[in-house]
Amino acid sequence: MEPVMQLCRPRVLRCLRRHWIIQKRNHSDCAEHPVPVSSQARNIRPTLLVSRLYQPTNLRHVGQESRLQGEMTCKSQRLMQQAGLIHPSNPGCYYYLPATVRSIEKLVRVIDQEMQGIGGQKLDMPSLCSADLWKTSERWDLMGKELLRLKDRHEVDHCLAPTHEEAVTTLVANHMNLSYKQLPLLLYQITRKFRDEPRPKFGLLRGREFYMKDMYSFDVSEEAAYQTYESVCQAYSRLFARLGLPCVQVQADTGNIGGKLSHEFQLPADIGEDRLLVCGNCSFSANVETISSDRAGCPQCKTGTLVESKGIEVGHTFYLGKKYSQIFNATFTNAQSKPVVTEMGCYGLGVTRILAASIEVLSTEEGIRWPGLLAPYQVCVLPPKKGSKVEEGAVLADNLVHTLVEALPHLRGEVLLDDRTQMTIGKRLKDAGKLGYPYVVVVGESALEETPRFEVICQQTGI
Ligand SMILES: [Zn+2]
Repeated sequence: MEPVMQLCRPRVLRCLRRHWIIQKRNHSDCAEHPVPVSSQARNIRPTLLVSRLYQPTNLRHVGQESRLQGEMTCKSQRLMQQAGLIHPSNPGCYYYLPATVRSIEKLVRVIDQEMQGIGGQKLDMPSLCSADLWKTSERWDLMGKELLRLKDRHEVDHCLAPTHEEAVTTLVANHMNLSYKQLPLLLYQITRKFRDEPRPKFGLLRGREFYMKDMYSFDVSEEAAYQTYESVCQAYSRLFARLGLPCVQVQADTGNIGGKLSHEFQLPADIGEDRLLVCGNCSFSANVETISSDRAGCPQCKTGTLVESKGIEVGHTFYLGKKYSQIFNATFTNAQSKPVVTEMGCYGLGVTRILAASIEVLSTEEGIRWPGLLAPYQVCVLPPKKGSKVEEGAVLADNLVHTLVEALPHLRGEVLLDDRTQMTIGKRLKDAGKLGYPYVVVVGESALEETPRFEVICQQTGI
């Protein structure tokens, strides 16, 4: 299993501070940091108790048996349902239970940092879109059955938007006297999107309702638009590196979004539905769709051979040029006060899909492993079993939770106490293994020694 360390309390703190990258050492020096046995009135905020979490592992799956056991499932879906993270509703739709919402909110914060780091400004556009906009771009017909359509009480056609090129371009077109000095303009949102999948499957990996980050860029020239495109790709790479995910950027088809240049960000995985070709010799990688079938060698270095692998698409970037800005007349005024049509790009990230895909690629068959930044809770402390001969260690456990939070403010709201003390440590450890808390601290027998020691288990995989 994962590395286990015996640490006294000051060392537990130091250990957390240093992201737990420490060697097992002699702890004799810790005798000078005696641990107070009685818990002082330190209850600044209530301890987060595992017994109170709404993370039901015993929800009935009415009518879902086939989806649970059949070919439609994958590791992340199974683990997430078993751990009480998601619950299937109607096909392709899920309840995101509280721990998942915590994780999504953490992912949103990291995405916000990266998007705002390159000048992105966050907005929120209606999900309910008028058909007129989509008819203007001709995508009302082009999108086919994947576009979720509905009529309002006035018999007017609408769709629940899967993407917002039409909407955002209309917004910018309505902006009178947008100056060249205000460009590049990068607008993004993180909202629920809809796609009428014929066969939703693999849990959050291919649903009909999901969270997506979509960003749209407006530039003064083609050259400037390419620079913006490149800076977004770099931000995506930084994001995946921070999450500890081995993402590959591959050349891609522009599909029904249109445009001239496109890349996908793919997470290699056996259940991936995209086929990728990666050169063993140079940096070339592409989606199979973009390569003619008779091509065996690498088009970039000419000498390398292309190896096929499967991937889960977690991000997509498109250089759009004037495709939408021309149609909707999204212009800016140049230095000579003349109106000029803007150059556009659009950039998507599947938010709920990144979450499920990271669980898919990092987890074992038995337990969830999270990117460290996305784990719903960082630390779980296990006090001894009630009625055991080390029962008095329970006070130490409670004390440790408060010490951790006081000393390491970034752990505020992140440390759980597994108070289900009617269960053995072993049983609760097994649960902790399934849920994948990055750090588990066991308060066992050695906690009652003269120099109290706590057992630390590191389950972290990401950064
Ligand atoms: Zn090559």
